Amino acid sequence: MINDHNWKPSNAEEYYGLKRWGSGHFTVNADGFLEVHPLRDSRSICIYDIVREALDKGYELPLTIRIQDLLRTRVVELNEHFAKAIVEESYSGVYRGVFPIKVNQLREVVEEIQDAGEPFHYGLECGSKPELVIALAMHKDSQALIVCNGYKDDEFIRLALSGRRLGKEIYLVVEQLSEVPRIIRLSKEMGVEPLIGFRMKLSTMGEGKWASSSGEDAKFGLTSPEILDAARRLKRAKMGSALKLIHFHIGSQVPNIQTIKRATIEATRYYCELYKLGFPVQLIDVGGGLGIDYDGSRSNYESSMNYTLREYARDIVYHIKTVCQEASVPQPDIVSESGRAVVAAHSILVTEVCDRISKTSVTPKLSGKNQHNPVLRELESILLNEHNSSDLERFHDAQQKKESADNLFNLGYLDLKQKALADALYWKICRELSEAGKSARYTPEELESLPTDMADQYVCNFSVFQSLIDHWACGQLFPVVPLHRLEEYPSVDATLVDITCDSEGKISSFTDVEDIRNTLRLHEPNGKPYYLGFCLVGAYQDIMGDLHNLFGRVNEVHVFLEDDEEDGFFIEDSIRGFSINDVLGFTQYDGKVLTRMMKNQIDRATKADQIKPREGTRMLEKFTEVLKGHTYLAR
Ligand SMILES: *Cc1c(COP(=O)(O)O)cnc(C)c1O
Repeated sequence: MINDHNWKPSNAEEYYGLKRWGSGHFTVNADGFLEVHPLRDSRSICIYDIVREALDKGYELPLTIRIQDLLRTRVVELNEHFAKAIVEESYSGVYRGVFPIKVNQLREVVEEIQDAGEPFHYGLECGSKPELVIALAMHKDSQALIVCNGYKDDEFIRLALSGRRLGKEIYLVVEQLSEVPRIIRLSKEMGVEPLIGFRMKLSTMGEGKWASSSGEDAKFGLTSPEILDAARRLKRAKMGSALKLIHFHIGSQVPNIQTIKRATIEATRYYCELYKLGFPVQLIDVGGGLGIDYDGSRSNYESSMNYTLREYARDIVYHIKTVCQEASVPQPDIVSESGRAVVAAHSILVTEVCDRISKTSVTPKLSGKNQHNPVLRELESILLNEHNSSDLERFHDAQQKKESADNLFNLGYLDLKQKALADALYWKICRELSEAGKSARYTPEELESLPTDMADQYVCNFSVFQSLIDHWACGQLFPVVPLHRLEEYPSVDATLVDITCDSEGKISSFTDVEDIRNTLRLHEPNGKPYYLGFCLVGAYQDIMGDLHNLFGRVNEVHVFLEDDEEDGFFIEDSIRGFSINDVLGFTQYDGKVLTRMMKNQIDRATKADQIKPREGTRMLEKFTEVLKGHTYLAR
């Protein structure tokens, strides 16, 4: 049995699941610090060191850390796995991936992805006008694609077509039938030959949390009659030759490889049929959906995936090839739009535990036989187990006495002091029973939830709504790991709560191999800062987070491996989170106006001799200082 005597850093690796979800990027060093291996080799960065350096530079927590080399690794791996699958299957097309900007729009992220993807002519995907603006301007490699998905108005289409004039291979993917006449009209108007793709509304349903992106009720894509209709319209407008690409996207984080295979086969069938109808289709775009194994269970559970990147690439290549061969149709080039799989792992959110909420924070003072109140005496005797009862019996007795105590208090027969003692005794009994249950081989059903009920809440300086929105919105799990003290036995069962004034701002489900954990083992507070890392948060979270309680964007540092540096890394960029002034601006306040309003009140109070002029000046200075400052808790 593992306990505080024989606990080792390797036990922490095991407990926090680093080997499972970390896919070779995360380890614990001999001193108990969490390390990241951006290239999956022996070069590593201690995340605690990054936090210390960020703090030295004045970047307070919460802090988003981007490991830029890890991002590069993912881009390279995706491209290499497809290239390899193509060689292994003797496939005659090539892989031409694009990064979907919506998954992480940050300029530095997009730039890094483009830079790492340059040797592979890795392109960009956009789904809105702002994203198209990014894609057009950032795209420089004429051999890399731009794929335009999403709902499009005239302006969107015109802008995309202007990209054609610049020689870009930019595809307008038709999501709605109404886009077809529009593309035809605007292309003619501008005298541009468009490149067109059709998004298929496949009957293959996705699986997992984002399954509604696909299936016949999805809001995206064309049904089979619509495809024929759209194709006919293109032909009639003498634009049949523009139809080059077949697209599908069955939803994000597809946990089951069988779904991906089925969708690939179905889409390839459409491809072959359109080819036979005389359209010069030459690309199949398999969309996103490539998962991340957040809990490391390698299962088709929604926070996991039952396949590897290698298997994913091979299955797509193999099935497209097979279907095309059977139909005697040339094999198309393959496009994929993997976002989550590329960016999720590169980013870590660090927060500090700033307080602890515990039901047993106050230890009851026993008065033993001198206790004259019968209910309190009984509770003491249950705590001391004077009757040698079983755990379950003690639990039942304690519950009954607690209920009596509550009633007596409400009726005025117990005073506050006595009520406090009754509660403290009751919680102490529950704590004991819960601890006993943890090491017991068998726990009676009624006692099973005690460890969860008795768990401490660690208050963390961050907002779930800003930084882990998918946990709140759809219960997605992210791995949580302390950045340090991992050589120490984590003795406290805890859940996490954030600093918003919202009871939903909490984390009470955690990743585990077999099941979901309701509590996470963490370290006993020791009076020094204690940092937790939320891992795999690089996809979707940053931009979808909101301003609940006006906390807003957190500080951020971008880290690179660097052999010449003592710690093996350097911080290239840092981005300030929102100041209070910034977030007030979003709700129509103006910091200057608020300051003036404050000044008027202070002036009035000074005139009325309520405060001294010197105090008034200080008050106003403090007010403006807070306005400029960080929204989260300061150290
Ligand atoms: C969101 C989206 C993606 C990205 O999906 P991931 O599962 O994150 O890879 C790709 N294509 C389209 C059309 C999307 O809407």
